[in-house]
Parts: sequence; C-alpha cells; structure tokens
Amino acid sequence: MTAEEPVPSVAIIGAGPCGLFQVFELGLLGIRAHVFDSLKVVGGQCAELYPDKPIYDIPALPVCGAQELVDRLMQQIRPFDPQFHLGEEVTTLIPDGAGRFTVGTAGGTQMTAGAVVIAAGLGAFQPRRLGVDGAEAFEGNQIQYRVRDAQQLAGRRLVIFGGGDSALDWAVALAPAARSLTLVHRREHFRGAPATVARMRELQAAGRIQYIEGIAQAVLSDGAELHGVRIKGNDGTTHEVAADQVLVFFGLHPKLGPIAQWGLALERKALAVDTEKFQTSVPGIFAVGAINTYPGKKKLILSGFHEAALAAFGIQHHLFPQQKQFLQYTTTSPIMHKRLGVPDI
Ligand SMILES: Cc1cc2nc3c(=O)[nH]c(=O)nc-3n(C[C@H](O)[C@H](O)[C@H](O)COP(=O)(O)OP(=O)(O)OC[C@H]3O[C@@H](n4cnc5c(N)ncnc54)[C@H](O)[C@@H]3O)c2cc1C
Repeated sequence: MTAEEPVPSVAIIGAGPCGLFQVFELGLLGIRAHVFDSLKVVGGQCAELYPDKPIYDIPALPVCGAQELVDRLMQQIRPFDPQFHLGEEVTTLIPDGAGRFTVGTAGGTQMTAGAVVIAAGLGAFQPRRLGVDGAEAFEGNQIQYRVRDAQQLAGRRLVIFGGGDSALDWAVALAPAARSLTLVHRREHFRGAPATVARMRELQAAGRIQYIEGIAQAVLSDGAELHGVRIKGNDGTTHEVAADQVLVFFGLHPKLGPIAQWGLALERKALAVDTEKFQTSVPGIFAVGAINTYPGKKKLILSGFHEAALAAFGIQHHLFPQQKQFLQYTTTSPIMHKRLGVPDI
C-alpha cells in the first residue's frame, strides 16, 4: 500500500498492560488500534489478579498500584481513541495471504486488520467451573458463572458457590428478593471485603441466607431440568439443597485456548518471536508481553513495553514496506504533538 491510502487498523488481542501500551506506541506512528479482551475490564493480570498490590519496577514510578498503572495507561492512550471490544474472546485469526487478517470473536464480531498484535499474557481468562458430573449440561442456563440479569433471579431458589468478593456481593444483593438463597464456601474464612462478610452474616442471622461450609458433590436433575445440588459439608454431613439457579464464583484462570490453533510457532506454550520486531512465525502477526518467548525473555511489564515500541515499528513497516522509517522524539516532533493533542512548543 502507499502512504496516501487510509491506514488500516491493527487488532490487539489482550488489554493487559502490554496491549494497552501497544495502543500508545502505534498511536504515535499514526496507526489506530482495536483492542479485544475476553474480560469485561481492561488491565489483564494487573486488574484481575492483583489490583491493590504495589509494583516497584515500573521505570520512573518508584511505587505504583497495579490498578493505578492500568488507569495511567488508559489516560496515556486516550488521545489515540482505541476501539475496545471487551468481553469478547478472539477465537479465529485468518490471514488473507496478502498481509491482512480477519479477526473473529466468540460473540460473532469480525474485523479486518492490517496487522495483529497478540498481547494475550497467560491466555484468556475463563471462569473456574463447578466441576461435578452432570453440571456441564446446565452451564449457560441453570448454572451461571456471572449474573446477566439480577431481576430474573427474584423469587427463585438460588445456590451461590464461592467465598470471594463476587460470591459475597451477589449473595448480599440477591438475598432480599430471592425465594431462598444458600451460600456454599469450602473454608471458614472468606476472601471478600470485611463489611460484605458482616452484611452476609446479618442476613444469615435474619434467615435470609443459609450458609454451608462444604463443596459441591453432584447436581440433582431429572435430566432435562436441574432441581438442586448435593453438597458435602466439611463436618461430613450431606445436604440436598433445592435450586432453580446455581451461581458459581470460583474466580478466573487463564487459558491459551484458540491461540494455540492459529498455526503460529510455539515454544512451551509461548509464541516464538524475533527480537527485532517481535514478529511471530507469520509475517504481520506480532506478539508482545507475557505471551511471547525469545532467548533471555523475562516476563516483566517493562520488557513488554520495550517489545511494544519495537513491534510498532515492525507493524509500520508491514503496512508501508516502501516507507522510510524515522525515529522521532515525543519531546520535539510536531506530528507526534498533533497526534497526542498537545501544544507544539
Ligand atoms: C501477583 C503478581 C504480581 C506481579 N508483579 C509484577 C511486578 O511487580 N512487576 C512486573 O513487571 N510484573 C509483575 N507481574 C507480571 C505481570 O503482571 C505480567 O507480566 C503482565 O501482566 C503481562 O502483561 P500482558 O499485557 O502481556 O498480559 P496480561 O496482563 O496477562 O493480559 C492479557 C490479556 O489478554 C486477554 N486475552 C488472552 N487471550 C485472549 C483472547 N483469545 N481473546 C481476547 N482476550 C484474550 C486476557 O483476558 C488478559 O486480559 C506480576 C504478576 C502477578 C500474577
């Protein structure tokens, strides 16, 4: 393509810190990004696994909370107006043979991208499943891993599994309108906010929540419909609890999933890349951050930021192979000032 033609957008798979910084590095070069993440929120591991923990090895930020880092990255990329597709797992990546790609998600979204950056970290976060025989048949209807419509649960018999914030928040929120609500957690101690645990205990004392310390043993069904769950209590007793709807909040775990099927060279579940452009074995598909591997690779956020900077130049070359590349400084480049929306002084 020539420099006069419109610049095709780039698809970034993964909205973790490295995917977000990739938006910035592409934006400086005048390239717009679409960002996909299977999670409904941006930030990857920082937001999902350790939002409140301090990070000490981000250059020039002696200490920075993990969620704060994500918030700062979002602020930094705002001038480049990326299009986010959150809650959308990318399942297909099809090259057209001429350097362009069709990216498809489980939800049916499709886009044509001029290049692709896989910034998928450890893989797409998926809910941990109930994991008892027969549960699979009811997943997506009577067994849910997130609440889609709280109003639909009013007047119903609910069983909630889990001991973290999600399980507790929903138990407290749904108990007043439910016909019955049983909360099941495998340990004495909860991982949720103390105030929510206290509220849950109040509702338990008031008879609005039944609490069982134990684990799921089986789903009770007539084959077509689930009508309850069998729970093995930690004290050895077995409970058969009637249920119309089961909600499971065991947290999320990452899964490499479809990425392994895209025909890209892998080394021990990571995408093999070069260290000049961080390109995978397929020209036009790049990989940055925790998903890639090369000699000496360290899974650090700062390494991912460096990779994103060089990948952006690799992508620019992929889109405009004839164009000469210049290194410009954000301090002094008028075109970069324009793209950043800052005064050119
Ligand atoms: C407890 C803990 C503490 C840490 N402390 C530090 C530290 O102090 N310093 C440091 O440098 N690093 C630290 N790390 C490591 C750091 O968090 C990771 O290296 C970093 O998050 C990697 O960023 P990333 O953008 O590559 O991927 P991730 O943060 O893993 O984000 C990848 C995103 O891609 C999404 N995704 C994957 N596949 C798909 C798909 N097919 N479709 C759509 N979306 C997809 C995932 O849902 C996820 O949101 C720590 C990690 C943990 C767990």
